Amino acid sequence: MVTAYIALGSNLDDPAHRVDAARLAVGGIPQTRLVVVSSLYQTKPVDASGDDYINAVIKIETELGIYQLLKELQRLESLSGRALAQDRAHLHNAPRTLDLDILLYGAARIESSTLTVPHVRMWQRAFVLVPLSEIAPELVSAEQLAAVSGQLISRLS
Ligand code: ADP
Ligand code: MG
Repeated sequence: MVTAYIALGSNLDDPAHRVDAARLAVGGIPQTRLVVVSSLYQTKPVDASGDDYINAVIKIETELGIYQLLKELQRLESLSGRALAQDRAHLHNAPRTLDLDILLYGAARIESSTLTVPHVRMWQRAFVLVPLSEIAPELVSAEQLAAVSGQLISRLS
């Protein structure tokens, strides 16, 4: 059993509803259990235009290998109407109905063509660090939070 943290984001088609539904859907992945969910947060797009994002982070426990987990998360993204991975190359940072990223998977350190864990940009993003620190304060230092304090983020009730 491995503890993992997943970041969820959406900025299209009722994003709060999509992120809310995705929090539960991830718990429905085979051999996977939802442990803690963060609040929903609203943020401005980073390096992109478009509507505000809704973000959250969840903690799961899973028996799945990391590539199996990635596949299941991509399946949920696809179900949510997002373009399939093969069609995505030209869509980096494009608006999306659902984005599910693996932040941490146990103590794994991976750098392959399809997976970088810990997630390569997580320490630069308030929309990851703020919800992560809500559910796992021991994983995010005050210095790391201070480094992203210039980014606007608000917690939804
Ligand atoms: P981003 O999340 O960076 O905005 P995408 O969601 O479009 O971009 O991701 C594109 C690809 O990133 C995925 O097809 C996946 O193979 C790869 N990827 C690399 N590391 C991770 C990770 N930690 N979690 C999820 N996807 C990842
Ligand atoms: Mg992604």
